[in-house]
Amino acid sequence: MGREVGVYVHIPFCVSRCKYCDFYSTTLLDLRHQYATAVATEAQDRISEGTPVRTIYFGGGTPSVLLTEDIALVLNTILSRSCIEPIEITLEANPGDLDIDKLRELRRLGINRLSIGIQSFNDEMLQRIGRRHNADEARQAVAMAKAAGFDNISIDLMYALPGQTIDDWKQQIYEALRLGVQHISAYCLSYEPNTVFGKLLASGLLSETDDETANRMADVLAETLTANGFVHYEVSNFALPNYESRHNSSYWTNVPYIGLGAGAHSYDGATRSWNINDVNRYISDSLAHCLQPERETLTDDDKRMEQIMLGLRTSKGIELSAVDKEKAYDYVRRGLLTLDNNRVIATRKGIHILNRIIEDLI
Ligand code: SF4
Repeated sequence: MGREVGVYVHIPFCVSRCKYCDFYSTTLLDLRHQYATAVATEAQDRISEGTPVRTIYFGGGTPSVLLTEDIALVLNTILSRSCIEPIEITLEANPGDLDIDKLRELRRLGINRLSIGIQSFNDEMLQRIGRRHNADEARQAVAMAKAAGFDNISIDLMYALPGQTIDDWKQQIYEALRLGVQHISAYCLSYEPNTVFGKLLASGLLSETDDETANRMADVLAETLTANGFVHYEVSNFALPNYESRHNSSYWTNVPYIGLGAGAHSYDGATRSWNINDVNRYISDSLAHCLQPERETLTDDDKRMEQIMLGLRTSKGIELSAVDKEKAYDYVRRGLLTLDNNRVIATRKGIHILNRIIEDLI
C-alpha cells in the first residue's frame, strides 16, 4: 500500500455570484450532469486501484447544487478505487440547497462531514454581500443536518463586512456557538479587484473596514471561541478537540492530494499540476480521456517556502531550523512569534501581520 492521499473534487457551479467572490465558477447549471460524468471519468483514469484514499473533499463553487445521483456517481467511483475506508468525506453546501431528504441521502452515501457556507446571521448583511440564503435557512440547515445524522458540521462565517460593527460580529459568533457545531471557519473579507465589491471600493462607493477594527474582530473571535472549548488550530479555523478538518490539515502537512475537476490542483510530493480552468473544455477533454494538466516541479527552496507559509498559519508552527534564527528571535522578542520545543508559532498579535512576517522569513 502506497502513501495515503487526499482527494479534492472541484464543483465550479454557483446559482448566482456573490459580490465579494473571485473564485472561478459558472452559473451554467445545465452542464452539471455532464460535468459529474467527466469527473467520474477522471477519477477512473487517475486514481489507480488500491489507492489509500484517506479523505475526500467536495469543494467549490457550490457542490450542493449537484443532484444527489451525480454526487453518488463521483463518490462511488472514487471509493471503488480506494483500498481503505475513508475516514472523512466532506461536502461544502449552501443553506438554501439543503432539505432533510437530500441531507439523509447524502449521509447514506457516506458523506460524514458538512461544511455549510453561512457567512452571517444578519439578513441585511447577507443581502448586501449577495448571498442567496437568509439567516433562518442557515439555522434550519444546521438543525436538519443534525436530524439527518451529521455529527461533524462546520460553518463558514465572514467578518469585516461593509458597515459591520464589532457588536454585530459578536452577535454572529454567539449565534454560531448556539448552533452547537463542531467546527467554525471565519474569514476576513478581502476586496479582490475583479469582484463587484472590488469595483465599488475602487470607485469610492464602499469603504474597507480599517485594520484596527478587523484585527479586533479577529481577536474577539479567537477569545470567544477558545473560551468555549474550540481549538484555534489554523489562522481561520477553529474546532472542538478531534474535529479538525483532516483534509485541510493534510494540505498543511505535505500529504499528497489528487485534485479532480476543472481548475483542480494536485500534488504528489514533488510536482504540482492543475487542470484547465474551463468547464466546457474540461468536460470534453476528460470524456475523451485526454486531459493535459499543466505541471511545475517544486525545487527544495519552493518546498521550504511553502512549508513556512502554510506551517506558520497553524498552531503547530514550523521548525526553528527552517528559518533565519536571528530574525525569528527578533519576532519572539516583539511578541509576534513564540518558541515552543524548537518550533516557531505565531502569537495572536503576530497573526495580525502574519503575511508580513512570512514574507520576511522566506
Ligand atoms: S462565495 Fe461560494 S457561492 Fe458565492 S460565488 Fe463564490 S463560490 Fe459561489
